[in-house]
Amino acid sequence: MAKKKSAGKSKIGGRMKVKKVRIPQKEEVKMELKISAIEEGTVIDHIPTDSTFKVVEILDLENQNGIVSIATNLQSKSIGKKAIIKVAGKNLTQEEVNKIAIVAPDATVNIIKNYGVREKIKVKAPDSIENVVKCSNPVCITNNEQVPTKFYVVKKDPLKIKCHYCERSMGKEDIRII
Ligand SMILES: [Zn+2]
Repeated sequence: MAKKKSAGKSKIGGRMKVKKVRIPQKEEVKMELKISAIEEGTVIDHIPTDSTFKVVEILDLENQNGIVSIATNLQSKSIGKKAIIKVAGKNLTQEEVNKIAIVAPDATVNIIKNYGVREKIKVKAPDSIENVVKCSNPVCITNNEQVPTKFYVVKKDPLKIKCHYCERSMGKEDIRII
C-alpha cells in the first residue's frame, strides 16, 4: 500500500493521462496458472465448449465446497475450441467419468496430487447408459412411469444413442442429463 503514496500528486487541472499497460503474454499465463492451480483434485481437459455446462451439471459443481475453475473457448490443437474444468478436493467416481464420456468423448481426466498430475485417464464412452440421460420422447415409459432410463450407445463420435424402451435415437444435442 505504501507504493500508492505518489498517486495523489498528479497535476491538478492538467489533462489526466491514463496509461494502459499491456501485460506481457508470459505474465498472463503465469497468472492463469496461479488462479487455477490446485493442490489436490481433478482437472478435466479437452471438453468441447458446447459440453462445458453439461459436465458442470453431471458433476453437480454448483454444490461443491472446494474451488471450481471453469475456462471455456480455449484454443485446442486437437478439437478446435475446448474447455477445462478444475475441481479442488474432488475425485471422480467411475460413474462420473462414464457420464463425462457421453458429452465429451475426447476428454482427459487428470488426477492431481500435490500440484502434479498423478494419473491421466482417457474417458471412454460406455456401451450402455443407465439412468443418466432423459429420453426426448414424451410418450416414452421412462417419462411417464418410475422406470430408470436406459440407452445403448450406437455410435461414439459423434454420439448417437438409442432408447431401450421406445427406440428413440438421440444425438448429442438432444441429451438432457437427469
Ligand atoms: Zn425412450
